[in-house]
Amino acid sequence: MTAPDQALTVGVLREQARGERRVGLTPDSTARLVAAGHRVQVEQGAGQSAWFSDDEYRQAGATVAPCAAVLDASDLVVCLHPSAILHALSPRHVVVGLLQPLLDPQLMLRMADAGVTALSFDMLPRTVSRAQSMDALTSQASVAGYKAALVAADAYGGFFPMLTTAAGTTKPATVLVLGAGVAGLQAIATTKRLGAVVTAFDVRDSAQSDIRSMGAAVLDVGVTVQSEGGYARQLTPQEQDALTARVADEVHRFDVVITTAQVPGRPPPLLVPGSALDRMRPGSVVVDGAAGDFGGNVEGSTAGASTVTAHGVTVVGAGNLASEVPRAASTAYARNVAALVGYFTQGGGFAVDLDDEVQAGLVITYGGRVVHPAVRALLEGTA
Ligand code: NAD
Repeated sequence: MTAPDQALTVGVLREQARGERRVGLTPDSTARLVAAGHRVQVEQGAGQSAWFSDDEYRQAGATVAPCAAVLDASDLVVCLHPSAILHALSPRHVVVGLLQPLLDPQLMLRMADAGVTALSFDMLPRTVSRAQSMDALTSQASVAGYKAALVAADAYGGFFPMLTTAAGTTKPATVLVLGAGVAGLQAIATTKRLGAVVTAFDVRDSAQSDIRSMGAAVLDVGVTVQSEGGYARQLTPQEQDALTARVADEVHRFDVVITTAQVPGRPPPLLVPGSALDRMRPGSVVVDGAAGDFGGNVEGSTAGASTVTAHGVTVVGAGNLASEVPRAASTAYARNVAALVGYFTQGGGFAVDLDDEVQAGLVITYGGRVVHPAVRALLEGTA
């Protein structure tokens, strides 16, 4: 147990982003932190959209208070997304969240100027085994991939499984999953469990065996690249054009297409152009799991909106899918947060050690400076 003078006060705020239903700590993880000797402050109603009541937090040992009081009392502030509230933080605050520092380095500069220590799960070195309990990208992508499959099944006007009834036999739906990282593999698993016949593609050479291990067929379009640190590198414009043209030639063979392709810190690659949508059968469904503020994998998709093309193809711009399974997603995220608190307080009180590979990935700002090399390079224009 942490000595009382070294205990942290962990504050969790109600998420501000429109439509966000997740919360950064659950009653379960609150109890875990309290048992480890920390104090927890929860903004009133913070867990409401994920069906965690203020009373459950109190029973777990938290104090429930208005936002300003939570900020005032907290050392470590937990969130999912950056929000205007981050501007109210001061040098005694540590903030942890999915802060997307590569997409908004200026926010990190402001955090550094304000003296705030900012930790971002986006930058965790995920292949280091001791980091895996903190891997919020994986926990949230897994929920998102599961939900993408359900959204696709819901929007599709047919069955996913082959069904044999007295009225005859229906063919199973054919599903194509584009992007086979964490979300894509979970989408493959879920569509297969629903009975669809699944094919998948990922540009990373090492993903081909992952796809086969899930029992899906690999779509061979003749374009793969070597992984760089486990991730796909951004393709050159020529490579991307060739890939998009080849994928576009294949999508019309499928009833359902689910896309999850991302390149860290970059806009998602375009994989399904409008010309490919035009060739799909009426009644086909495309779920763009990468649709968001920075674009998507499907031309014309809009995050959080569903549209039907002139000849009857439904395009769902998925937006924030993990938030649509708020209880499971919050539970997983809160466990990642509790693991992070444990990691940074191993010696007793909260301490930053930038010589530690895991901390050097997570810590974006510290001591009034942007310390993460990739974020600094972006700010200095040398990335
Ligand atoms: P991500 O969300 O950044 O990207 C999703 C997928 O899109 C990736 O598989 C990527 O290769 C793919 N992609 C990118 N550009 C593409 C394109 N033009 N066409 C098709 N696909 C494209 O990735 P992620 O899901 O976070 O995972 C990335 C990698 O990290 C995976 O290999 C994953 O297995 C690995 N990973 C390892 C660990 C671990 O070792 N513990 C944990 C998590 C993830």
